[in-house]
Amino acid sequence: CGIVGYNGKNQATEILLKGLEKLEYRGYDSAGIAFQTSSGVKMFKEKGRIAELRKAITEEIDAHVGIGHTRWATHGVPDQKNSHPHKSASGRFTLVHNGVIENYEKLTRDYLQDVQLTSDTDTEIIVQLIEHFSLTGMVTDEAFRKALSLLHGSYAIAMLDDQDPDTIFVAKNRSPLLVGVSSECNVVASDAMAMLQVTDQFIELHDGEVVLLGRDGIVIETIDGDKIERDPYTAELDM
Ligand code: GLU
Repeated sequence: CGIVGYNGKNQATEILLKGLEKLEYRGYDSAGIAFQTSSGVKMFKEKGRIAELRKAITEEIDAHVGIGHTRWATHGVPDQKNSHPHKSASGRFTLVHNGVIENYEKLTRDYLQDVQLTSDTDTEIIVQLIEHFSLTGMVTDEAFRKALSLLHGSYAIAMLDDQDPDTIFVAKNRSPLLVGVSSECNVVASDAMAMLQVTDQFIELHDGEVVLLGRDGIVIETIDGDKIERDPYTAELDM
C-alpha cells in the first residue's frame, strides 16, 4: 500500500526503511525492499511489520539505489512469496506495485504461458510481461511502456533493472505516486511525507506517466514515450 524509491549520494537502506515507516499509517500486511549492489540486486521481504523486515536485513548493505514497498494484499494471501518486490523469471527485473491489475489472468494466458510464476499476485504479471517484451529485443524503457500499455487497472510502480543499475523505472495510473528531487538525490514515494527527510521539492505525476529516475536527473514521459517538462513545487508539510 506504499512505495518508496531512492537514487542518490547517500546510503539507501535507512532512508528507505524510514520512508516505509512514514507510510505505515496507510495500513499493510507485508513489507519488502530491494537494492542495487556491486553484486547485483539484493532483495529482502517479510510478512508482518517493518520491524520484521529490519530484522531480516542482517548484513551491511552498500547501496545508493533502492526501492521499498508495503503491501495490502488484494491477490494472493499475505505471505513471504506474495510480498513485494517481485522478480522476473531470469532475475533481471525487480518490481514493486500498489494497486490492482484487473486483466492479469488474460495477460497471463496471452503472453506468459511458458513462464513459471512464483506467486499468486496480479503484480508478478507486470514484471514478467516487461521481461517478455525485453526478450523480444526492446530496451527497458520501451518494454516497460509496452507492458504498461496492456494493463487495465490501477498501479504505482517502481522497478530495478540489473543491466541498468543507475535508473529506477517508475509509473503511475490511478494510484498515488510522486517524484522528489534535490541536488543530492532523486526519489519516488506514494506520499511526500515519506521523503521529506531528504527533500521538500516534489513533482506531481499524472495518470499514464512514466519516469526514468536517475541520480542526477529525471525524465518524465507519456506511455507513448513523448517527453514531458514539469517543474517541482515546495511541499509544506510537517514531518
Ligand atoms: N495487488 C497487489 C497485491 O496484492 C498490490 C497490493 C498493494 O497495493 O499493496 O500484491
